[in-house]
Amino acid sequence: MPLDAPTLFFVTIVVMAMISLLLLWVWLHNQSVKTLAWWSGALLLEAIGTTLVLLRGRIPDALSVDLANALLIAACGLIWSGARIFSHRTVHPSFALGAAIWLAACQFDAFYSSLPARASLFSVLIGGYALLTAWEFWRETEPLASRPAIIACQILNALVFFAHSPVLMLSAAPGGAQPLMGPWFTFIALQGTVHNMAAAFLFLAMAKERVELRYKTASRIDPLTGAFNRRSFVNSANQQMARMRLDDPPIALILFDLDHFKKINDRFGHPCGDEILKLFCSVASTHLRASDVFGRLGGEEFAALLPGATAASAHLVASRILVAFETAGEGLALAGLKTTASAGVAVSGVGCSSFDELFTVADRGLYKAKRAGRNRVREDETPFAPVPLRSSSA
Ligand code: GH3
Ligand code: MG
Ligand code: MG
Repeated sequence: MPLDAPTLFFVTIVVMAMISLLLLWVWLHNQSVKTLAWWSGALLLEAIGTTLVLLRGRIPDALSVDLANALLIAACGLIWSGARIFSHRTVHPSFALGAAIWLAACQFDAFYSSLPARASLFSVLIGGYALLTAWEFWRETEPLASRPAIIACQILNALVFFAHSPVLMLSAAPGGAQPLMGPWFTFIALQGTVHNMAAAFLFLAMAKERVELRYKTASRIDPLTGAFNRRSFVNSANQQMARMRLDDPPIALILFDLDHFKKINDRFGHPCGDEILKLFCSVASTHLRASDVFGRLGGEEFAALLPGATAASAHLVASRILVAFETAGEGLALAGLKTTASAGVAVSGVGCSSFDELFTVADRGLYKAKRAGRNRVREDETPFAPVPLRSSSA
């Protein structure tokens, strides 16, 4: 089916203008996602630039060649800047450099009168910006599902433009006439429409995925300390215990409770208490392995799950954390401040194979540590025995 290039160009312009308005509309309703405004501006420039290209021959070359291509190149600079902003980076001044290079080159007759030179510079600048955009999304580590797709989309766009110059030369009519309405430009118009639609769609999906990820993270993390919250810790611990097979090494649980924390709050103030809670988390994390799970169970109570740890090694880790916490508190040099904690340790084994059972035994150890004078680690030797529920009929 033969495709009519001018009609396709017209459709491209309408689609780009519509996507520009759509992105602007979404941005007006959510101004925190600044990339939407940059990409909206970029698509508007592309729509204007493409309109000027379409009018080539009917308007002065200064508009249909110099300005049109400068706008198309500047649009790619805006797309790149939008990608940088999305990745929490500042806008790089060279976002406008491509358009400036193009306009400067157009001042030279030798360049202006050579179609290969113009096509080559145009392709390199557009393709270069597309690769830079792909790179910005590539080095972002946030786990967003649409990220690989938007990278692929930008790389594909770069490849099309790197092919632009050679294809144009091969398909050039004898005498150097520009095959502006030939099959390659038909393809370029079609590709531009599909690329812009896909990029806008993928970007909106990414912005939505980021919001969802933030809500998900917020529901799992304790906002004060950045540690797992109780729900997340218990879920993670339950999963680890459920995965455990009979011949697997044991799992140890350490429960921590800061000593006389109420007194610290009363004497030094709640904000100071908050800092002590953060200090404990940072001290604990330096003594735990990446495979261990650490969380804040609530208030001044914390827990660590140590897969593969024996009772002796868990005891040693807990003791080191308590010593380091006390030393770190002394480093704060607040007269009368003592930062100590007590810990209870339990290890999985016969009769103690679920997280609830492990928790009960560790809690008994913690109680023993408190009773023995605080600032120490204790295990409970009595085998796990569930507390019998009182019958409702009794
Ligand atoms: P013990 O040695 O027996 O554990 O005594 P304690 O004072 O540490 O225990 P208690 O349960 O009496 O007090 C815990 C205090 O922790 C009371 C509460 O105000 C404080 N607390 C709980 N959450 C926070 C918090 O997020 N920030 C601050 N600063 N204090 C908190
Ligand atoms: Mg407590
Ligand atoms: Mg306490």
